[in-house]
Amino acid sequence: MNHLVPKFCSQCGSAKITQRIPAGDDHIRDVCDDCGHIYYFNPKVVVGALPIWQDRILLCKRAIEPRYGKWTLPAGFMEENESLEEGAMRETREEAGARIHQLALYTSISLPDISQVYMLFRAELSDLNYSAGTESLEVQLFTEAEIPWDELAFRTISATLKHYFEDRKHGVFPTYTMTLKHNRSPAPPVTTTQINHDT
Ligand code: ZN
Repeated sequence: MNHLVPKFCSQCGSAKITQRIPAGDDHIRDVCDDCGHIYYFNPKVVVGALPIWQDRILLCKRAIEPRYGKWTLPAGFMEENESLEEGAMRETREEAGARIHQLALYTSISLPDISQVYMLFRAELSDLNYSAGTESLEVQLFTEAEIPWDELAFRTISATLKHYFEDRKHGVFPTYTMTLKHNRSPAPPVTTTQINHDT
């Protein structure tokens, strides 16, 4: 479970909320014992962008916990009533004071341990007008050699940046679907088995 159990039922005000599997269900839910209301909690979508300017990438230094002072791509929880693209543009505007265009979905990363899904877009930075928003200490363009790999906030961000710099060598950018779990590295990419035809 990755949510706080409600203290009081939002339907009837009762404090008698228990965790159990309702009839016909196969997940443990928070259920109000007085009115029978069942609470459903679903994963959150984190939407963001990898803003590109020529050979450089725009990163934000976090001014909030978790990972205060670490670098990240502009990203945050998707809001209700917006599309993924609108969310990525909004987060880029809010955290980096920047405008982006030509968005292309790049990495979709499931984090089942914390019930989150990241959806990150490659995007062109529209101009060099950027500035730190309230959730950023600073915003800066980095070449590949300048990326502070040890100071990145999240594995989702380092995985996305690694793919990007690798793909940039070939100029081909597929969309990646990944799952990251606690204390486990991502599954290695499928590679072609070497066959020795001489034996
Ligand atoms: Zn109730």
